[in-house]
Amino acid sequence: MRQRTVLVTGGAGFIGSHLVDLLLSEGDRVVVLDSMPTGRTRNLTQAIGHPNFRLVQGSVLDEVVVDELMHECDLVVHLGAAVGVRLIMEQPLKTFTTNIRGSQTVIAAAHRYRRKIMIASTSEIYGKNSRGPLAEDADRVLGSPSMARWAYSTAKAVDETLANAYHRERGLPTIVVRFFNVTGPRQSPHHGMVIPRFVRQALRGEPLTVYGDGSQIRCFTHVLDAVTALATLLDTESAVGETFNVGNPEETSIRELAERIIRLTASTSELTLVPYDAAFSSGFEDMERRVPDISKIRAFTGWEPIRRLDDILRDTIAEVRAELRAELQPA
Ligand code: UDP
Repeated sequence: MRQRTVLVTGGAGFIGSHLVDLLLSEGDRVVVLDSMPTGRTRNLTQAIGHPNFRLVQGSVLDEVVVDELMHECDLVVHLGAAVGVRLIMEQPLKTFTTNIRGSQTVIAAAHRYRRKIMIASTSEIYGKNSRGPLAEDADRVLGSPSMARWAYSTAKAVDETLANAYHRERGLPTIVVRFFNVTGPRQSPHHGMVIPRFVRQALRGEPLTVYGDGSQIRCFTHVLDAVTALATLLDTESAVGETFNVGNPEETSIRELAERIIRLTASTSELTLVPYDAAFSSGFEDMERRVPDISKIRAFTGWEPIRRLDDILRDTIAEVRAELRAELQPA
């Protein structure tokens, strides 16, 4: 079989870098396009120096670079986007326009060269639909577009709509994946994601900031399970033109999560309940419960997550412990 060259936009990011490691281990050539904000190089420690790996620092908004890279690759996984509820809330204009324009640029280039494209979407698509488990055709329940969170959901829905339209009207081979709270090693604590934040708070002996009353329910997916799902879908011919939830149906409330992290780290920290209004400056709405229905991806590929919440927590705690030890070392 001919060796594939895969373009991964956002390949130095959290999910992207794990996908890169997996594809390289399977014998693919990988080209990463990433804007490389500070600290990202560390995610690619395993990949840099690999003979089948190339890193291009640049933006998905740069049509010339995207065009050149698309030309030399066989397929593209488009992960390059602004993510994280906190980032979205703080920079709504930049995140909204970057996400839509970036996807437009990458999808149009994929179409010019007839490359298969996988597009990353999100469970934010379902908005406040807390009925769960959510199948791919579940309703979107959104609040006002003046709330940044729903604007993000809308931007991602535009990306999906664009991908679907290119598939139906122009025959572009597309696969859309919707991530449900993917987490684990390399996830940055800076954009508000709960597990990297709680683990750092616990290991530093600081209070764990539980928003609202902590009864909200989420399902966390280990990043290694998520990237296995992506690689499997890329190899599944019948997945073309389809949309898939990628998640782990194991439910936990945020309060239970905080208590579990305190237990696993043997921390002296306590929980502190932070009202949403104090946590976010502008209007904010959370969803009570978000649970994926993963029967579709299971039926198409046989994939299902093999790691549980405790595995995620163990891996994240080990990483953060090593990071904190390194900070304490004299330079
Ligand atoms: N959360 C929290 N404390 C934090 C960060 C997040 O209680 O310091 C809550 C957040 O309100 C949400 C859940 O944890 O209910 C998951 O948040 P995250 O930003 O990781 O993902 P989301 O599900 O909101 O996309």
